[in-house]
Amino acid sequence: MNESSIRQIVIVGGGTAGWMAAALLARALGERTRIHLIESDEIGTVGVGESTIPSIRRINTFLGLDENDLLRAVRGTIKLGIQFNGWLRPAASYLHAFGDIGLPLGLLPFHHYWLRSRHQDAAAPDLWAYSLNARAIDAHRFARMERVGDSPLAGLRYAYHLDAGLYARYLRQHAAAGVQRTEGKVVKVNLREADGFIESVQLERGGTIAGDFFIDCSGFRGLLIEEALKTGYEDWRHWLPCDRAVVAPSSRVEPLRPFTQADARPAGWQWRIPLQHRSGNGHVYCSGFMGDDEAAALLLGHIEGEALESPRLLRFTSGMRRRSWNRNCVALGLAAGFMEPLESTSIHLIQSGVQRLLDLFPERGFDPALAAEYNRQTRFEYERIRDFLVLHYHATERRDTPFWRHCADIALPGELQRKLELFRAGGRVVRDGDELFAEPAWLQVMLGQGVVPQGHHPLADTLPQAQLEAFLSHIRTLLGRAVAAMPGHAQFLTRHCAAA
Ligand code: FAD
Repeated sequence: MNESSIRQIVIVGGGTAGWMAAALLARALGERTRIHLIESDEIGTVGVGESTIPSIRRINTFLGLDENDLLRAVRGTIKLGIQFNGWLRPAASYLHAFGDIGLPLGLLPFHHYWLRSRHQDAAAPDLWAYSLNARAIDAHRFARMERVGDSPLAGLRYAYHLDAGLYARYLRQHAAAGVQRTEGKVVKVNLREADGFIESVQLERGGTIAGDFFIDCSGFRGLLIEEALKTGYEDWRHWLPCDRAVVAPSSRVEPLRPFTQADARPAGWQWRIPLQHRSGNGHVYCSGFMGDDEAAALLLGHIEGEALESPRLLRFTSGMRRRSWNRNCVALGLAAGFMEPLESTSIHLIQSGVQRLLDLFPERGFDPALAAEYNRQTRFEYERIRDFLVLHYHATERRDTPFWRHCADIALPGELQRKLELFRAGGRVVRDGDELFAEPAWLQVMLGQGVVPQGHHPLADTLPQAQLEAFLSHIRTLLGRAVAAMPGHAQFLTRHCAAA
């Protein structure tokens, strides 16, 4: 620690973002930096955010959390992917399963060989026959496995469904030793006259808390980044028109599915998320095409099991803060931006924001180049996720309601347009740098949404026909055997991580 080191970080907000940031920063920075978290019981948290993506498991490794213990504490279940129902056409269904699909052969991605087989025979097995996750989803099975037997095929890749409130509490327990917590409402943010940097925050019951560096985890309002620093917000509703959700938990539903369901509705879509003690349900919709009462009634009419609470309304604007790092403040979670939860990316964005902050961690001089780089990387990550979400809405054959007709007419972001053209022509899945969603994700959603390539890579034609057939059938056999040997998802939970 030297004279210019950050000595005190103040985190405002104790939802998933606040406690995730606190736990990760405390572990990474150790005792050299004091971390003070302020949260308000009166204001509370959003309390939704139940579906995650596999990157969340890296937090366990970093914090030394035991996965069985975690799943027990958050009443969690396993998530192997998302089932999209009714997105292409009302009766059509497809999966975005996590994990690899097939195996690359030589330098060529697997799907070009698969495309060749489909171009030869339209009745050849579909892409999902080559995904271990998809096959485990169909069979409702799960096992932790690194590889498929002794083959080079990767094992299951998974995330969790979890109770967001319990997850924040669990992280808080783990962060407790390294974080000072204050319960109270921040009513004023004091800025330094000279440069507008944040000096301290003032509590309703009196007293101020000062810091060198502030992390805004105060939710949608962005108490520091927006209300105090006036950073500005980019509204993406012209690309992602849904702006409201009604949510209501319901009683536990059998069987416990190892996947999230996303069912298209007339003006949006509905999620179903299985937890050990209940199900999470929410109806995301566009207020320009449906009223709140109708949206709530539609949700209640499509809940499995018994609703445990009346529907709760949440308003949001998909988009992002113009700068997530402004002066000596970084916004994380809902304060930084929000994209509707179709691909469950918000908790991941908190995690990657903390990771980026650690990579670019400043000293008290606050080199502007660090903030600029943080903002550049954040924008890249948000925009690529946004494009992936827009794909689900735009590439649809649905024209049955004004909402779906509107979605089909959405003008695409340029990068997405380029991706679609390259895929349609020759099956090329192009990704930029280390954007979040990998090739198998783009592939499944493009095919699932009816974007079908006219050709495949010419190199796939160099493999002799008999070898192609043997290669494809060998993979299907190995995956089939692996899934047959797995226990059921519910059985796995009962054995390893059932809540008492
Ligand atoms: P919040 O939960 O709103 O927490 C804000 C905190 O700030 C609270 O502790 C509050 O008390 C405190 N605070 C606010 N003002 C003050 C003040 N003046 N003084 C003191 N404290 C204050 N994410 C996923 O990853 N997967 C999903 O499936 C998913 N589904 C979602 C569905 C919907 C409809 C919505 C809206 C979000 C969803 N999310 C999902 C996002 C997820 O809920 C959030 O990213 C996550 O909960 C983080 O929220 P947060 O901590 O930023 O904000």
